[in-house]
Amino acid sequence: MNVHGVRPGDSVLMIGSGNIGLIVSYQLLQAGVRVAAVVEAMPTIGGYAVHASKIRRLGIPIMTRHTIKEAYGKEQVEGAIVWELDDNWTGIPGTEKDLKVDVVCLATGLTPLGELLWQAGAEMAYIPELGGFVPLYDESMETTKKGVFVAGDVAGIEEASTAMAAGRMAGLSAARSLGKVPDADYARLRDEIAGELEGLRSGPAGAKILSGIAKMRAMVRSVETRGLAKTSDPGDTGSKSEKAVGA
Ligand SMILES: Cc1cc2nc3c(=O)[nH]c(=O)nc-3n(C[C@H](O)[C@H](O)[C@H](O)COP(=O)(O)OP(=O)(O)OC[C@H]3O[C@@H](n4cnc5c(N)ncnc54)[C@H](O)[C@@H]3O)c2cc1C
Repeated sequence: MNVHGVRPGDSVLMIGSGNIGLIVSYQLLQAGVRVAAVVEAMPTIGGYAVHASKIRRLGIPIMTRHTIKEAYGKEQVEGAIVWELDDNWTGIPGTEKDLKVDVVCLATGLTPLGELLWQAGAEMAYIPELGGFVPLYDESMETTKKGVFVAGDVAGIEEASTAMAAGRMAGLSAARSLGKVPDADYARLRDEIAGELEGLRSGPAGAKILSGIAKMRAMVRSVETRGLAKTSDPGDTGSKSEKAVGA
């Protein structure tokens, strides 16, 4: 909808009350689409109160401890049944509600798109706190594949602000690896960006990311201990010398 300017339908059931579910619900309303409800399996709303309040004020119910039981329709979605969950996350018979919708929007989490990194041969690891499979990378944002740097959601699902700061770090490191940044400038800029990232991750949401990064760094250290050098393509004449990840 945001990219192509196309309304996905007339009436939506949103699954998930994280910030994305809440914000997209609001954007759908602004585009003239009816939002029948937001259902959330957890007992509390996942996103920020400011986003939840905005859609609640517009009369959209946010049903916690609820999930979708089924979507039905012949050629397309015509409705969906939602129901309440008990303490074991099992649907409670008799609590079903039939919502007439033609779109079911899944906002139950984002996953890094790391296919190009898999193809490049970078070491990947499953780290739930970062959203799934992510590349192992060091403080300079370089992966185990020499000369391949990462930033943004592919390195761990976060926000636009951290993606931009991490992108500057990756760009700085890449420029330095090509001998384009004097040492003094590099150290100053690196510390500046590292401080910015620390500030951006200082909130409660950042704690989860930091624990994921700590887990990833431990894996990087284990790669180091195993004595694996960064891999490079045959014939690579890059200026950066071979080194273990994170060295
Ligand atoms: C609905 C929604 C609402 C959000 N709202 C906020 C918000 O309010 N505030 C906030 O801070 N963050 C928000 N975020 C998160 C924020 O958008 C992301 O954290 C940020 O965009 C990550 O930047 P990125 O550059 O890593 O990835 P993206 O912005 O996703 O950019 C990746 C780009 O790479 C392209 N691409 C992918 N694979 C390939 C390939 N093989 N070849 C070429 N191109 C490719 C994609 O098409 C895309 O254009 C929101 C996210 C969503 C989904």
